[in-house]
Amino acid sequence: MNAAPADQIRLLDLQALDSRLDQLAHRRRSLPEHAEIDKATADHTALKDLVIAAQAQLGDTERELTKAEGDVEQVRARTARNQQRLDSGAVGSPRDLENLQHEIGSLAKRQSDLEDVVLEVMERLESAQTRVTELSARLDHSTVVLKEAEERRDAAFAEIDAEVEKVKRDREAVAVVLPADLIKLYTRLREQQGGVGAARLFQRRCEGCRVEFAAADLNSIKAEPKDAVVRCENCGRILVRTAESGV
Ligand SMILES: [Zn+2]
Repeated sequence: MNAAPADQIRLLDLQALDSRLDQLAHRRRSLPEHAEIDKATADHTALKDLVIAAQAQLGDTERELTKAEGDVEQVRARTARNQQRLDSGAVGSPRDLENLQHEIGSLAKRQSDLEDVVLEVMERLESAQTRVTELSARLDHSTVVLKEAEERRDAAFAEIDAEVEKVKRDREAVAVVLPADLIKLYTRLREQQGGVGAARLFQRRCEGCRVEFAAADLNSIKAEPKDAVVRCENCGRILVRTAESGV
């Protein structure tokens, strides 16, 4: 294949721009914010589950307290009714009186037990409220952490994407003047050779694979016409001779 020396040098420009695009794509993929966002998302999801569980626990305890308070109220009302009967003097027989007094005594004991239950449930309610408050604060914090990481990622994306757009325009300007067959060969080699399809010959080396040419090989490269598209014998890449190549 043949290509004008100037086009071969422009191919090196194209290669530099393509390498820059590859670097930018790599940088976009490997931003540290990706890992931060993954972790913050996982933390946020886990905390949300914990808050939901803590709120359910709080609701259960609130219902438990309502029930315990209701139990106390029932016993208190019954005691009041008994006391009223006692005070009214309507209960005449000594046996009935004794039963009534006995019941009032039992109810007092029962009320005291139930009031202990209320106190115990209130303590648990307080713990449940504290837990909901603490977890909600942590959830809010994780929301902020996630949002900040997303904002940093988006800012980095915007910066990278702006450069990508610029490099793509530069690339287009170079590619449009190059012969189609040269671009086709370059593109194929670039795919095969880890992103580098064209390399400069510099200080006896192929800058694609860094192999140093023996004097005889260098002489045969020198002997090629200026517009011949030379390939590196070692890596197969297009080997571009420039003014600094010394050939
Ligand atoms: Zn090479």
